[in-house]
Amino acid sequence: EALIQLRQVSKTYANGSPALTGISLSVNKGDFLFITGPSGSGKSTLLKLLYGAERPSDGEVLIDRENPARLKGNKLAFLRRRIGVVFQDYKLIPRRTVAENISFVLWAQGYSRGEIQRRLQPALKMVGLVHKADCFPEELSGGEQQRVSIARAIVGTPPILLADEPTGNLDPDNSWQVIKILKKLNQIGITVLVTTHDENLIRMANHPVVQIRGGRLYRER
Ligand code: ADP
Ligand code: ADP
Repeated sequence: EALIQLRQVSKTYANGSPALTGISLSVNKGDFLFITGPSGSGKSTLLKLLYGAERPSDGEVLIDRENPARLKGNKLAFLRRRIGVVFQDYKLIPRRTVAENISFVLWAQGYSRGEIQRRLQPALKMVGLVHKADCFPEELSGGEQQRVSIARAIVGTPPILLADEPTGNLDPDNSWQVIKILKKLNQIGITVLVTTHDENLIRMANHPVVQIRGGRLYRER
């Protein structure tokens, strides 16, 4: 059964511009899916509908049979915790160390000190940054900062990871390192959705691809 389902979803922003039109998509548990397409085609909007940052104007989004647009308060917060999100620009807190950036989300969710410590090391290890735990973001390369943001996204062990142009600011080597980590997370059972317009990366990674053009979805392979 589908973990993520979109049924005839459309999104028109307040200014009247249609970003998505009649999108239907089904993603099963354990899938790794690339979403490609030109800039402005609606890729970010699609992910925003999934993590509940935007609501569809029409149609239905279901995450594990729950509709984020219908949830409020604690229930919406709980659903969001099951979705890790990674952005192109990392969004790390500048004056906090790597370890603090990663533990912050757990602390905000009320995890105990012991539980935070127990979860921090495996997350750092997964992205190969145990030795950078006490560094500040500005001391890291772009690739390393993105790996910190991946560790932060998965430290709460969400079943779903969404990455919006995660390699958009990285050179080919660092881009591939990031994709390798996402593949590794997928292999341990996390369902991964990645937007990118990097055709090379898509070819190397060899996962199913859908394309969005002008707000409409086309299946590539
Ligand atoms: P992509 O991620 O493929 O670059 P987006 O989903 O960011 O595309 O944008 C799709 C369309 O929606 C674009 O025309 C964009 O200008 C418009 N758009 C995105 N966010 C907003 C917003 N908050 N308000 C109005 N229009 C928006
Ligand atoms: P890349 O080749 O991946 O782009 P850089 O050349 O930016 O990486 O950095 C190489 C190494 O130097 C990285 O391990 C990074 O952590 C470290 N580094 C980069 N900038 C700084 C800095 N301002 N202070 C301390 N260490 C840094």
